[in-house]
Amino acid sequence: MGPTSNYFLGVDLGGTTVGIGIVSDEGNLVAYTSMATEVNRGPHHVVSVIGKAARNLIGVFGGGILRAGMGAPGPLDTRTGVVYEMPNLGWERVPLRSMLEEEIGIRTYLDNDANAAAFGEWWVGAGVGAHALVCFTLGTGIGGGIVIDGEVYRGVSDAAGEFGHMIIQPGGRACHCGKSGCLEAYASATAISARAGELARAGRAPALLDLAGGDVSSLTSQLVARAAQNGDEAARRVMEEAIEYLAIGVSNVMNALNPDVVVIGGGVAEAGDILFAPLAERIRELTFEVVDSAAKIVPAMLGSRAGTVGAAGIAMRRGEGPE
Ligand SMILES: [Zn+2]
Repeated sequence: MGPTSNYFLGVDLGGTTVGIGIVSDEGNLVAYTSMATEVNRGPHHVVSVIGKAARNLIGVFGGGILRAGMGAPGPLDTRTGVVYEMPNLGWERVPLRSMLEEEIGIRTYLDNDANAAAFGEWWVGAGVGAHALVCFTLGTGIGGGIVIDGEVYRGVSDAAGEFGHMIIQPGGRACHCGKSGCLEAYASATAISARAGELARAGRAPALLDLAGGDVSSLTSQLVARAAQNGDEAARRVMEEAIEYLAIGVSNVMNALNPDVVVIGGGVAEAGDILFAPLAERIRELTFEVVDSAAKIVPAMLGSRAGTVGAAGIAMRRGEGPE
């Protein structure tokens, strides 16, 4: 990070939190701020708040930002910078890229938030040097990203890597996307806490309910993982079920893409060994041996900042070549 470094702005727009950072061309996050996303006040308000915070951050840093990258959820067009739909935010057809450019006066690139997180993990996180990296982010939903030889693979209409919507149970649980049986409905943080809540309400998980202070609605996937670690039977069952479905999903992606690194991040991955040990074992059973033995399955390293760092990295990368 010498005087010759170039700097990029990264923005990670999530349904609950926005992360904004300045990142060097070596991937160092040199300034960072985050704030709640005021979803109900609409996209113009949210982008103007982001713009103000970004201008402040850049001002304190001393200017000199080459380009900006923004990660956002939902199907979007990386060329026009328009988000078609953001189901979790209730926004439709938002030209996020031009809106942010107007605010900050810096050339901006828009990408899918899960792609940004995957790129961040490839660049300076858990998958540095990987030839083929796939990333699963297990949060409110399940985000997926594919990075091949240092480039995000987006498919022909920017919709590649939607691992959360692979159908792993025909006719199964309803998913937010309108279909049913999607991985997201079984192994996201939301799915795990919902399943634990069902058992608790039915009186089949008293220890779990105690841990949540008697309040079913405060059962998080972290609490479920902790209860499972403490030997709670109901919590164990919930975790085992989520791990089984996750193993099926990860194994399918591995057999399709033969990656050398599989990164698992998001709130569910904070469970640590209680997730990763049985997951790796089950994946080994399900996956072609030659595929499994070539792959490392690792926890994400950049935590909640992966999307911010990755969005800046994508802006660095995309500005280098022809548009
Ligand atoms: Zn779905």
